[in-house]
Amino acid sequence: ATPTALMVGIGKGASNHILIKDALALEQMRKVNTVVLDKTGTLTEGHPTVSQWFWENGEEPQAKEILLAAELKSEHPLADAIVNELQSQGITPTALSSFESITGKGIKVVYQGETYWAGNQRLLNDFGAVISVYLKGMIEKSQSEGKSIVFFGQNKSLLSVISISDKVKPSSKEAVKMLQNMGIRVCMLTGDGEATASSVASELGIGHYKAEALPSDKEDFVKELQNEGSVVAMVGDGINDSQALARADVSIAMGKGTDIAMDVAMITLMTSDLQLLSKAFKLSRQTVKLIH
Ligand code: ADP
Ligand code: MG
Repeated sequence: ATPTALMVGIGKGASNHILIKDALALEQMRKVNTVVLDKTGTLTEGHPTVSQWFWENGEEPQAKEILLAAELKSEHPLADAIVNELQSQGITPTALSSFESITGKGIKVVYQGETYWAGNQRLLNDFGAVISVYLKGMIEKSQSEGKSIVFFGQNKSLLSVISISDKVKPSSKEAVKMLQNMGIRVCMLTGDGEATASSVASELGIGHYKAEALPSDKEDFVKELQNEGSVVAMVGDGINDSQALARADVSIAMGKGTDIAMDVAMITLMTSDLQLLSKAFKLSRQTVKLIH
């Protein structure tokens, strides 16, 4: 039978916007010494906005219509930022003949027999596109400010570079510090580029992170920590986190994230406030202490 203390703990969680699936989750949580956090939508607001837009050969109105049509079909937060920007410019979408989402990299569409794509550096490399010296300078400056870069191209050419900023949540810094004060090691994972990841990690005081992580890399990251003897809690919000969530000793989803993340997760934080995370850890320590 489940000890009363654990049931009380679960009830206490619920009244604090922390949904705990079962008593085992709470007991496992007590043993965690490493927390891995997804960046986009977990540590950051997840509501990115376009801050700058650079074109290789000047603005191309038709390319904008194609990009708008493409990003309207994507559910990525970066897609929302691009859609909002283009719509505010009065751009209307064209009809595409195909759309494909490439996990961990971006999207690809076909318009009048030509392939257009939008995504990260990996996707750019897949298409064999080259970055001009002019754009390279702009990219490096944006990345050093923690902004995400979306590359937009047609076949083998890079058409433009979009710089997007996603603010770190006000609660993130405090939450990371609270976990570290509890003796828990904090790590970060992201599909974003190295420079952006490094900037956000240092802003938050996170020493260990992995950038340009595909869903399988996120799982491997967790597995490696476990192989070193760590007991790992993974915190994520998206489909791309579900493999890592399933691998972790404790899986924690953000309630505003995707249903898939919440289905996999043992614990769901019902608001986007990351301080709930340290609250959940405190709860597990208090509760488990009571029964041992
Ligand atoms: P993350 O949640 O860490 O961003 P994803 O696997 O969802 O990880 O995406 C990996 C990367 O692919 C993103 O960081 C982004 O650079 C790029 N990407 C994904 N979807 C899109 C999109 N619709 N438009 C532009 N870039 C995208
Ligand atoms: Mg995410």
